[in-house]
Amino acid sequence: MDTEGLLQNQNVLVLGLAKSGYAAASILHKKGVHVVVNDQLPFEKNESAQILAEKGVEVICGSHPIELFDLHSIDILIKNPGIRYENVMVKEALKRGIPVWTEVELAYHLTDAPFIGITGSNGKTTTTTLVYEMMKADAKKALVAGNIGTAASEVAYQATEDEWIVTELSSFQLMGTYAFRPKISLLLNVFDAHLDYHHTRENYELAKQQIYRNQSETDVAVVNLDDDVVTRLATCSKAEKVYFSVKQELEHGACIKDGMILFHNEPVMPLKDVVLPGEHNLENILATICIVKTAGVANQAIQKVLSSFKGVRHRMQYVTTIKDRMFYNDSKATNILATKKALSSFDKPVILLAGGLDRGNGFDELKPHMNSVKAIITFGETAPKFEKLGKELGIQQVKRVDNVEQAASAAFNLSDTGDVILLSPACASWDQYKTFEERGDMFINAVHMLK
Ligand code: ADP
Repeated sequence: MDTEGLLQNQNVLVLGLAKSGYAAASILHKKGVHVVVNDQLPFEKNESAQILAEKGVEVICGSHPIELFDLHSIDILIKNPGIRYENVMVKEALKRGIPVWTEVELAYHLTDAPFIGITGSNGKTTTTTLVYEMMKADAKKALVAGNIGTAASEVAYQATEDEWIVTELSSFQLMGTYAFRPKISLLLNVFDAHLDYHHTRENYELAKQQIYRNQSETDVAVVNLDDDVVTRLATCSKAEKVYFSVKQELEHGACIKDGMILFHNEPVMPLKDVVLPGEHNLENILATICIVKTAGVANQAIQKVLSSFKGVRHRMQYVTTIKDRMFYNDSKATNILATKKALSSFDKPVILLAGGLDRGNGFDELKPHMNSVKAIITFGETAPKFEKLGKELGIQQVKRVDNVEQAASAAFNLSDTGDVILLSPACASWDQYKTFEERGDMFINAVHMLK
């Protein structure tokens, strides 16, 4: 797009040097745009800052001096999506009427390649992966970007005009977009999430709605007809709407009828050939089909991916079967909703492994979904809450352990043949683990040790 015009004479302040900030600063510098970086971590400990400084980028570390705005006549602030709007630099920028971008907005200005923007409270990574895999299976030119992998601006900088950029977008990233306009957009679902960041549900919805706002009549908006919030938010989009529904049969869009997945009333593939478990994944699959069919992907490629794709790591990932007990790793289930969905995927007896960071909430919402749970193994800060839940539900076997490794073996010890042993913690991992990936990996290792 219009880097020369829009960015060339601008002074840009990049705030926060995680992966996205580093990418943004490097690219702007390469393009000859005047860029200044500000990061809280002191320079001596800040490897990214040191590399940028070596390249000749001005880097200010260890504090947030608002004088930078005048000193460098800052026109645009690009902030790391995780940095809150209460940050002193962000507040100062907003006070001065300076646009506060995330690097997704920068990515949009760096290329003429079309974007496929994928957002939602849950299912983003799975759907983004499915879209990308199907595009590849059909030999379509596609790149994957955003939360899921490489920073969007880095991908956009290298993309050619005929490549689709399949981008996973969080509400934090979308909040910092102004002109960003995906050729195909998807909002999967909206639940209460990240209210600590957005403060109100309305703000969260407004951030999600950014995916639709700039779309025009020549674009496509994929809309979940089963989610009232999504259909309401989609009304602002001028794009052509393509609907999907897990619950209703549709003439247009994607749905299920008599065990067959249909798109615009044409068969795509039988549902029984889909490997990925769970009704929530059906939502992700139908959404994916709307996207890839819009992009011209053939049914054959869709069939190929869906008949082999077992899930993204840590998301309802089938690990292995030992002595007829099936182990699933759903460490990414960091909230109640994800665990509810996981529980509803099984009709066999389940031993649930749950617990983690205590955000102050209770777990009563899980109760209606616990019918098949025969035992709970709990760990982490919320362990007492899961013990209470188990007691209230009359679940006979509830055991507290120290970590997921112990949980794996405790679950195995009290299991019977045919049981599902499911790690789906309903909590973030940060009380005990650096990331949900680390928690999931520890679980997988422990499971393999049981063999
Ligand atoms: P995200 O990238 O939005 O966090 P993921 O694809 O990584 O989503 O899945 C995160 C968790 O949410 C998983 O544990 C999974 O079981 C659950 N999940 C996935 N898709 C959906 C959906 N469409 N609706 C509700 N929950 C879902």
